[in-house]
Amino acid sequence: MTRLKTILLLAGLMPLSAMAGGKLTGTPIGTSRGLQYSNGGASSSIVYDIQGNAFDGDFETYFATDARSYGWVGLDLGTPHVIDRVGWSPRNDGVGPQRVQLGVIQGANQEDWLDAVPLYIITEKGIIGEMSYGDVDVKKGYRYVRFVSTGDARCNIAELEFYGTPGEGDSKNPNLFQVTNLPTVCINTLNAEEPYDKEHDITSNIIIINDHEAYVDKPGTVRERGNKSREFPKKPWRIKFDKKQQVLPDAPATAKKWTLINNYGDKTLMRNLIAFEIAKRLGMKFVPYGQAVDVILNGEYKGCYQLCDQVEVKEGRVDITEMDENDNEGEALTGGYLVEVDAYADQEPAGEWFQTKGWGIPVTIKSPDDGGTAAQYNYIKQYFEELETRVLYGISSEPGEKDYRNIFDIESFLQHFIVGELSGNTDTYWSTYMYKDRGDDVIYTGPVWDFDIAFDNDNRTYPIKNINGFLYDSGKASAARAMRDFTNRIIKNDTRTVQDLSRIWSYARNDKGLTYEGLEEFIDEKVKEIDASQKLNFLRWPIMNEWVHMNPTISGSYEGEVNRVKTYLKNRFPKLDLLMKYDAGLTSGVENMEEAASGMLYPMVSGNVISFEEEIPFAVYGIDGRKVYEGQSATPALPSGVYIVKTAAGAVKLAF
Ligand code: CA
Repeated sequence: MTRLKTILLLAGLMPLSAMAGGKLTGTPIGTSRGLQYSNGGASSSIVYDIQGNAFDGDFETYFATDARSYGWVGLDLGTPHVIDRVGWSPRNDGVGPQRVQLGVIQGANQEDWLDAVPLYIITEKGIIGEMSYGDVDVKKGYRYVRFVSTGDARCNIAELEFYGTPGEGDSKNPNLFQVTNLPTVCINTLNAEEPYDKEHDITSNIIIINDHEAYVDKPGTVRERGNKSREFPKKPWRIKFDKKQQVLPDAPATAKKWTLINNYGDKTLMRNLIAFEIAKRLGMKFVPYGQAVDVILNGEYKGCYQLCDQVEVKEGRVDITEMDENDNEGEALTGGYLVEVDAYADQEPAGEWFQTKGWGIPVTIKSPDDGGTAAQYNYIKQYFEELETRVLYGISSEPGEKDYRNIFDIESFLQHFIVGELSGNTDTYWSTYMYKDRGDDVIYTGPVWDFDIAFDNDNRTYPIKNINGFLYDSGKASAARAMRDFTNRIIKNDTRTVQDLSRIWSYARNDKGLTYEGLEEFIDEKVKEIDASQKLNFLRWPIMNEWVHMNPTISGSYEGEVNRVKTYLKNRFPKLDLLMKYDAGLTSGVENMEEAASGMLYPMVSGNVISFEEEIPFAVYGIDGRKVYEGQSATPALPSGVYIVKTAAGAVKLAF
């Protein structure tokens, strides 16, 4: 007793800054319905309110819950305390040590835990009969502190200790904890209800921790999303804020709806991100935002996800005119529409999808909401049917009044096609987004979306290097009804397409970094960024040696999974160079103009019209050598393509 008094006295004399907080006491709280094992764990019985077992200093008594997941135990400290250290010890038997791994220590000031944030995550196994400790550096104080076990672990904790000092701490610079270097997304639902389907929105508070601050701390809802991906134990979610919200500093949209992609079958956790990068390098508009994050749901660590845009009409997303129910005639009726050619369209409510009358292409109307008014529904349906008629029944390679290209943007379709072929996405025409803006006669293809079985991750097409010709018509890729024919006619029946494909592919290859080396560098950067998180992800979901989803092969390691993507890409580029008629000499008009600057004036291109600032005689030829203009003013508006512009001083190749 005398000795203890001396220690306390010394502690009292130490300067505050050097002193770690003392061991804290409070009222034990936690999941009420517990479990008591007997016969060495062979049988068990239900017991209630045994939270005190985790705070009695006895390694032989433990706290276990009847519920397999989301069990928790902690302390109500009465007032906020800044926590600086936590300690834990697992249940004293053979399965105990791994049960505490990935347990999350949380702090909150609301009894309902809606404001809960992580203070620490236990990444190692526990040690039986011993305390393990972790330092906490969060500067904000919390009244409620707890341990939430990983899934399917029933808590099973023998002892829990919290150390700290009383006070609200520094809420301006809280130095919040992130699970890894990635942003941490915390979803806290009302009454800890778990999202359970795609229809019911569960009331939540969503906290996104970035740079150790709560970049977002806002009410909203969460529900499941996706189709096939919902069947995995790691669920994909859609979050919806009550008010429009930017989620991270570099996310372009301010929006209510965001997605958390689970990437379960994609063991690189980055296939979508690589495909988005390819789309950007091709110059596509409206490429979705995506960022790898760690996710905690009601205190349980759920793994590495991708926080991503919801594909919708909105500034910073598909940035076209948003329609409302009054836009029923004249130019207002012409857009904007966002549709998805979608093999699952018939699962949508009536009035929100249609099938074209000719070949029965299934199309879901994503925007306007609920399929739009009757006038809007009919407009886009008839528009799409006119496109179908022109493509499926009347492809002609000559520009004319009924040319499908008058109502269809070939550039974006081919860019999208290239993303599909380069990524080896067998789902490219299973689900294809298209949009049509107000006052614009053409429909565009995009944005790109959903690449979890791309990059040789599909057992139906693996290995893609053994497929001759394009993937989309290999007979092995999936497509919504008639979309393979639709695509075939554009790619094969329209002789202009060969040249267009060569031009788009070659520019991206030569000028925009669409090279194997460029993508390898991107992948290596992502590996560094994701590495700490992927390690925890595959502790949480130990599937590295399992066949999941469409996996064609198992490498057994994260590095091996990433290398499979690299090897695939290394083989894919030369194959597509042949198929798309790669032209190593083709560079963008801008660069050629710079080369020609010494001997020649700059041609200008505006609205597909070529002219010179000064009136000089010039001639314009198509890439096939056909003269399309000769004079000294300006060409008529020309179809997009490659042109040679000749003056007395020289020639330059142009493209637009
Ligand atoms: Ca105990």
